[in-house]
Amino acid sequence: MEDEGNHGNDDTRCFILSTLAALQWSRVSCVLCRAAMLVFDRYPLVDGTFFLSPRQHSPACAEVKVEGRTQFLSAVCMSCLEGSGNAPVRCRCCTQPWDGSSLVLGTMYSYDIFAAMPCCTERLKCNSCQKPLIYPHQRLNFYSDYSRVFACPHCRTVDAHFVKPLSVCFTREQFQLYSQWP
Ligand SMILES: [Zn+2]
Ligand SMILES: [Zn+2]
Ligand SMILES: [Zn+2]
Repeated sequence: MEDEGNHGNDDTRCFILSTLAALQWSRVSCVLCRAAMLVFDRYPLVDGTFFLSPRQHSPACAEVKVEGRTQFLSAVCMSCLEGSGNAPVRCRCCTQPWDGSSLVLGTMYSYDIFAAMPCCTERLKCNSCQKPLIYPHQRLNFYSDYSRVFACPHCRTVDAHFVKPLSVCFTREQFQLYSQWP
């Protein structure tokens, strides 16, 4: 898999700072725990990381246009990335903890970091008809491929199908996990 992000460059920094300045926001909030994070004008820009998603994970994600496409500037805090502090977020279906500890802090990823690492076949289904979009063993070439908007080959619904709403996909609760009954 390739990570085509341009981490730490000046374009990214200017893009984030000008977006937030236009909104008069000096803080952003984590899409997982809602903790507020100050945004700095130098790297590391934030105590966590920014990413762009085609889906608005929370009202605190600013709408931006990138290469003509609508995206949402989203952020995750360091303790959620590293799974420290709170209980880690887990996939509701396969119970695997989401692990963002390999991500670079204080910069921005140009794709949805949750969609980029699908843990199980639930994550590979159409958001509308729930039929699988790729084979269970199949993986896409780029992390950003999982953030693409495309038409489902089964029902034709156009969506960023691999980008799931976080509340549908993840939970912090340990006892309400779905069991995998045959
Ligand atoms: Zn957080
Ligand atoms: Zn899973
Ligand atoms: Zn479908």
